[in-house]
Amino acid sequence: MAQTKIMIVGGGFGGLAAAKALKNTPAEITLIDRTNHHLFQPLLYQVATAVLTPSQIATPIRSILRNQKNVTVILGEVTGVDNGKKCVFVTDADRQNVSIAYDYLILATGATHSYFGHNEFEAFAPGLKSLADAEAARNKILQAFELAEAEDDPTLHRDLLTFILVGAGPTGVEMAGALAVLVRTSLKSEFRRIDPASARIVLVDMAPRVLGPFSEELSKAAKIRLEKLGVEVRLGHSVEQIDADGIMVAGERIASKTVIWTAGVAPSPAGKWLNVETDRAGRVRIQKDLTVPGHVEIFVVGDTASLDQNGKPLPGVAQVAMQQGRYAGKLIHNRIVGNPPPPPFSYFDKGSMAVVGKGFAVLQSGKVQVSGFGAWLTWAAVHLQFLATSSLRLGVFLQWAWTYVTGQRGDRLIVNHHGSEVAKPAPDSAVKPTFAGR
Ligand SMILES: Cc1cc2nc3c(=O)[nH]c(=O)nc-3n(C[C@H](O)[C@H](O)[C@H](O)COP(=O)(O)OP(=O)(O)OC[C@H]3O[C@@H](n4cnc5c(N)ncnc54)[C@H](O)[C@@H]3O)c2cc1C
Repeated sequence: MAQTKIMIVGGGFGGLAAAKALKNTPAEITLIDRTNHHLFQPLLYQVATAVLTPSQIATPIRSILRNQKNVTVILGEVTGVDNGKKCVFVTDADRQNVSIAYDYLILATGATHSYFGHNEFEAFAPGLKSLADAEAARNKILQAFELAEAEDDPTLHRDLLTFILVGAGPTGVEMAGALAVLVRTSLKSEFRRIDPASARIVLVDMAPRVLGPFSEELSKAAKIRLEKLGVEVRLGHSVEQIDADGIMVAGERIASKTVIWTAGVAPSPAGKWLNVETDRAGRVRIQKDLTVPGHVEIFVVGDTASLDQNGKPLPGVAQVAMQQGRYAGKLIHNRIVGNPPPPPFSYFDKGSMAVVGKGFAVLQSGKVQVSGFGAWLTWAAVHLQFLATSSLRLGVFLQWAWTYVTGQRGDRLIVNHHGSEVAKPAPDSAVKPTFAGR
């Protein structure tokens, strides 16, 4: 008899957890992802700020699943689903919209940036979601210092050495703290014509406080810490404009050549593919068993799903995605082997953490609220534990220890994929004779 076909789309936190939960299931499992790697997004900001290398936070999906013989990994982009004919459409480098059949489908396709209706900002304020985004941000940040060092006119140094982060949630706060440590310690004494420590780091958000999901007390502690690190925190005003020369906020122009978007996220188009009900943000409304209403064979998990618990929607965090992926895998396993279904899904919140510069974090778990070095140690231990392989855990631990003691970073290379490390001037910009006569 032909084996049941299980299709998992997405090898992130949710998809991978589902695949692992199906380890002993007599089924033909296909996991499709448009990248060949599982990415540990919580440490993306450390690649963007040159602490870690891209390969320290990502692992090939087929390598993680190499011992799980019932899974086939496919590199391809899912472009749609026909939930009547039970097939997904996949495009890869060679083929367009090939249909692949399933008996069970788990969609774990995550989220992308949301510019809140201002998609024109994207060209000037790239987000931080993929390894390519993090490498691009690192290139841009490091290049700004190189350009300033080469610039004779000191009045232009200010724009080059002003870094703006739009969005003061965990990613913006972590990135601002890490950037402050980079400019005040790691880059110190390496430049002759500029002082990297004079760099201005501005964190902007329309919310009245940083780290919205945390308690007011922890949010205050994080803000104080950021300000001690020299970060300018501007709250209560949304960004009105972003262009090649900086941003406008509360009627004021802040000149900057490096603006990074660390604000909203938008779910993948899974809701459109399925043509089912979504919430206001576009996430697929799922039931307590994580299936889509009317489709017992379709599960949606993680950032692209919407499920309320205790009257509130579950947050878009890795723990929710992992627990949902595991649950979907277990439920399908039970159906296939004829076991009773597990009780309805219930998210167990282990708490939230955010790092603010070297040796300081905030931690909130139930009634426990801690900030400082102890919270940072807990943050480090938890993040190491959740990296995909033991070699990543060891590599990241050694890098953190080295960076903590010496201030030196793991990857400060500017890698331009077009071969030259000198960015080409825009066609209409005058080439300045900066080095002439020197
Ligand atoms: C910068 C950053 C920092 C974060 N920090 C934290 C943190 O500290 N703690 C925390 O709990 N959470 C954090 N998060 C959130 C957390 O990473 C997400 O909640 C989690 O990744 C969601 O898991 P997921 O499986 O739903 O999606 P993802 O992990 O994003 O995985 C989605 C996968 O689907 C693939 N995919 C998408 N579309 C397609 C397609 N059409 N075809 C094929 N494949 C596709 C993608 O390539 C990806 O591999 C952070 C997120 C970001 C971006």
